[in-house]
Amino acid sequence: MIDVRHVTKRFGIGAPAVTALGDVSLVIPEGSFFTLLGPSGCGKTTLLRLIAGFELPSEGEIALDGDPIGHLAPHERPVNTVFQNYALFPHMSVARNIGFGLEMLKRPKSEISTTIEEMLDLVQLGAFASRRVDQLSGGQQQRVALARALAPRPKVLLLDEPLSALDLKLRKGMQSELKRLQHETGITFVFVTHDQGEALAMSDQIAVMSAGAVRQVGTPEQIYTKPQSRFVADFIGDTNIVKADLLGYEGDRALIHFGEGETLAVHAASLSLQPGPVHVAMRPETISILDEGAETALLRGSVIDSTYFGAGSQMRLRLDDGTEVIAQVEHPRAPGSRVGLRCDSAMLHVLED
Ligand code: ATP
Repeated sequence: MIDVRHVTKRFGIGAPAVTALGDVSLVIPEGSFFTLLGPSGCGKTTLLRLIAGFELPSEGEIALDGDPIGHLAPHERPVNTVFQNYALFPHMSVARNIGFGLEMLKRPKSEISTTIEEMLDLVQLGAFASRRVDQLSGGQQQRVALARALAPRPKVLLLDEPLSALDLKLRKGMQSELKRLQHETGITFVFVTHDQGEALAMSDQIAVMSAGAVRQVGTPEQIYTKPQSRFVADFIGDTNIVKADLLGYEGDRALIHFGEGETLAVHAASLSLQPGPVHVAMRPETISILDEGAETALLRGSVIDSTYFGAGSQMRLRLDDGTEVIAQVEHPRAPGSRVGLRCDSAMLHVLED
């Protein structure tokens, strides 16, 4: 388990110092595939470098299995890193690259060759053991980098956007490959990406970050279906963010009204939001399109356009308050049509600002 306790990291002395991380606390469970997700510059790499020991926190501490590791140099930590550019030795063979870290650790020769064999099997590169690394494809180099990082059997593997240099197809293949490797080795993977789809597809848990802070931690399903804030809802993808009035609470449900139709009892990110205007997350696949005059409509608007995507169409609409939303529908209506909208209240979710 990695325990990040109130960690702040500032770069530069005096003003203007950059606060890359501000009082971040996070628990990364042992043996999990944990992803740090967020836009460029939000502090993901900085957090990874602090765990690796390449940087030290300005405040706070990081503990591994309960013990603070601040006094340990990078090579003394049971942690290894796979870098974006792989950092392999191009003129050396695949096998030497994989064994290099173990040679540095002065492990016995027999142990090194057994581990190289195991790692070649694990990343399915047995046939390439003696090939020079600069004669491999990008995807194969990526596997070598993984094998080399896994060879010393670290407790934690840090992966900084390791798939960003691969084309889309290879990337998809490596996503499943990484999941398999994590599962088979049981090593804690801390994976950095700014790609929402990648994070949702691969992770046991995701920490969504922005501007040096962790905004939400949860399973992919929690992050996707119950984003807590407007930032997370917006960042995770195609969620619509619609204005409503919060009237109050009934048990653990928020009572909201869209200005038309009935009052709805829905989930809320927090039960301490004040009654008044709020923002509600509404997923495109949960919207039904009705005729404009339908009494059951909760919202009304006009169709802007629609795009066919195979499994259905995405229809863009402008609500009467000006908000643009996307609905996923089987039968799109013509641009300019006036329509009513309804949404399953079980799928609505009041956001924090
Ligand atoms: P990206 O996805 O673009 O790699 P990131 O989320 O990994 O971004 P970081 O690299 O952690 O972001 O950077 C966080 C902030 O800290 C940025 O504003 C960055 O400019 C700043 N920063 C990072 N390293 C340094 C440094 N060595 N000196 C000064 N500022 C730095």
